[in-house]
Amino acid sequence: VKEADFRPADILARYLALCREDAAAVLRREAEFVTVPCPGCGAEASEPAFTKNGYHYHTCAACQSLYLRQRPTTEVLAEVNNGAASAAYWADCFYPNVIERRRESVYRTRALYAQQLQQQYGQTFRRLLDVGAGCGIYAEELRRAMPAVDIAVVEPGPRFAATCREKGFETHMCLLEELPADVPPACYGSCFEVLEHLYSPLAFLQVMARALRPGGVVFLTSLCCDGFDVQALWERHPNIYPPQHINILSLAGYRQLFERAGFTDIRLTTPGKLDVDIVRNHLPAADQPRVLRHLLQGGDETFLRDFQLFLAEHRRSSHVWITASRGAA
Ligand SMILES: [Zn+2]
Repeated sequence: VKEADFRPADILARYLALCREDAAAVLRREAEFVTVPCPGCGAEASEPAFTKNGYHYHTCAACQSLYLRQRPTTEVLAEVNNGAASAAYWADCFYPNVIERRRESVYRTRALYAQQLQQQYGQTFRRLLDVGAGCGIYAEELRRAMPAVDIAVVEPGPRFAATCREKGFETHMCLLEELPADVPPACYGSCFEVLEHLYSPLAFLQVMARALRPGGVVFLTSLCCDGFDVQALWERHPNIYPPQHINILSLAGYRQLFERAGFTDIRLTTPGKLDVDIVRNHLPAADQPRVLRHLLQGGDETFLRDFQLFLAEHRRSSHVWITASRGAA
């Protein structure tokens, strides 16, 4: 699997260029930024990691999570993002370009995984809630995998929400925090590639827990700093960009985050497929330490594929899946 299959290089480059412009606009309001403890374990102590586009990332002294220590509030981010060129480009160009090519390889796989979670957690899902549903592609795959089950989606974007409605889903056009109290709790909640963006992942997970029935199961995906590509590329990683991707937690950080939010039976896997390709694409051979150059340039395709499988199997990929239970009543 190649990085370009997921994110065409030219579209990604244009999007990241727009993000840098927005990052500069947000940075002009640095006086309003707030200093936060580790978003994973909550520890205050940290070490500077690197500065990227003027933003200071730190490493937690306790759990080694990588995070933006001084960060814009949700309100500042919303004000800048409202009408920002990067947000429009993402919705109009980036998302439509990549979403359908991810349907089978990403969303169908995750829907089948949701189905399997019933057995793993000893639950029978009757109602599902997908948060940040976009145009409803995952909800469609859930419906395909579990046709008899009620599916609700939360999607704040008006156009995406309208698309979800057209597809016949119970659609709540709001943020999860704004979900009306009379919406029935779900047996299963999913939310993909959102935790890394949030001012407070803990507050979000606490709201997620309240949207679930006792014993309900969550399935989230995000970025993990224990991943091979994050460790190899560090500040040069294309997927670490402020102020969007500001929580890149360690496995230990994720575990403590979910515990703090009241979840139990927390399971972490890293089934990522792109780490090796990302390192090859974004770290020129001349800049690679000798051992890395030896591994990545000297290896044939079979070696590289097996190396990626090894990373995923040993939880050293940067793409993390987290499942957990809200706990029985
Ligand atoms: Zn920590």
